[in-house]
Amino acid sequence: MQSLFHRLQAALESNPILFVGYVLLGILLIQGVLLLYLTLRRIYFQHEQQRLSRQRLQLLVKAAAIQCREVEQNKLVWNGFRKFQVAKKVVECHGVSSFYLKPHDGKPLPLFKPGQYVTFQLNIPGSGKPCVRCYSLSDSPHRGDYYRVTIKKEPAPPDRPELKPGLASSYFNDVIKEGDILDVKAPAGNFFLDLGKETPVVLVGGGVGVTPMLSMAHAIAASGSRREAWFFFGARNVNEHIHKDEMLRLAAEHDNIHVHVCYSRPDSKDKKGVDYHHEGRVTVDLFKELLPSNNYEFFLCGNGAFMTSISEGLTAWGVPDKNVYFEAFGPATVKKKTEGHPTEHIAKTKGFEVTFSKSGKKRQWVASNGSILDFALAEGVRIDSGCRAGSCGSCLVAIKSGDVEYVSEPGEKPESGSCLTCICRPKGDIVLDA
Ligand SMILES: Cc1cc2nc3c(=O)[nH]c(=O)nc-3n(C[C@H](O)[C@H](O)[C@H](O)COP(=O)(O)OP(=O)(O)OC[C@H]3O[C@@H](n4cnc5c(N)ncnc54)[C@H](O)[C@@H]3O)c2cc1C
Repeated sequence: MQSLFHRLQAALESNPILFVGYVLLGILLIQGVLLLYLTLRRIYFQHEQQRLSRQRLQLLVKAAAIQCREVEQNKLVWNGFRKFQVAKKVVECHGVSSFYLKPHDGKPLPLFKPGQYVTFQLNIPGSGKPCVRCYSLSDSPHRGDYYRVTIKKEPAPPDRPELKPGLASSYFNDVIKEGDILDVKAPAGNFFLDLGKETPVVLVGGGVGVTPMLSMAHAIAASGSRREAWFFFGARNVNEHIHKDEMLRLAAEHDNIHVHVCYSRPDSKDKKGVDYHHEGRVTVDLFKELLPSNNYEFFLCGNGAFMTSISEGLTAWGVPDKNVYFEAFGPATVKKKTEGHPTEHIAKTKGFEVTFSKSGKKRQWVASNGSILDFALAEGVRIDSGCRAGSCGSCLVAIKSGDVEYVSEPGEKPESGSCLTCICRPKGDIVLDA
């Protein structure tokens, strides 16, 4: 440093003009380098900005295309029931069959949103009135010529083995055959994967609750999207592994779809790494182990205990409620949010008296009991149900006195004097014709 200073001093003394020239050249050089750096930086940022704008535009175009397709598709949606023929029936595993349904009129089918269900009206001999039940569509929405449902024969409750197994699910599995004609309502439901988004997702299915998840995973695969998807499935063992080959193929063919199968009680012949990946149940601890963060949208479907444990675990892990979606096939143990309802305070504390006049039961309901339907079923009062979302109308019950409030908007508001028990709760003491 010192010798450089000496050399500069010597140069200044020997030739001051040359020295000033060098200094000017140096300044010019520094300015040039700075200019080059700033230009490169500007070009880089412009490039990045263009890339992001292009990406945003692509997403907008994709969303617009989806919206256009939805408008077109909505024209194909039908009102009421339409005749479908069972084109194929496949036994998937013990007590579970898939039904491939084609419209009997041969006209095109509307696309559905992955996660949605269809509603059947069955005239089952000996059952008196038509039986309405909902089943999720289990295949890709991109298959335009058929709908597929996968139905598990519902056994009698473990504590009431004397009861008959489920009416509709037995009829499907034991009686319905290829060629039969069924009455089916158009796909519906608010539990679906938004294909316009690219948010990473975690799909969690327990038992037959895998059906909407499978449709969602298929939809991601068929759309060609690079959307990250983690698909967790829980079953007892290979005998209950619904759509095993299909699920494993999805993972093998799409590196953005990660499938993890958990067997809670694997058989001695079940092969770890081939049939399943983890021994035990699907748990939030497993998510913590495998997922890089909790920054995902979670879709859950399974039985009550399964959904309660996972949704509680997700809350404890810091996943906001708005990122957790769930579908209940049976009584909803994951309670819908009801904060803000005018009667919330009384509902939570003292509750209201509910009289089921036909059953001769009088019980105290509190908010934690959930909907009137859930409460009735828990109290052993049998009310029919279908969609559990207020759209199929099967759970309609007459109100003899009192009033209800709705937890979510009904598809079609029932006439005054009756209520859709799956989505309402008492507003005060009430007498129901059930
Ligand atoms: C949106 C949605 C999507 C669905 N998707 C699917 C799907 O993809 N696949 C699928 O398999 N299921 C699905 N379900 C569940 C399906 O709709 C039916 O609820 C299920 O098949 C049982 O209907 P069931 O008529 O066979 O049984 P039900 O006859 O309604 O009986 C249900 C249970 O009650 C018991 N029972 C019978 N009589 C009595 C009594 N007197 N007292 C107490 N208990 C009694 C039965 O033994 C049985 O265990 C879905 C449900 C919803 C709401």
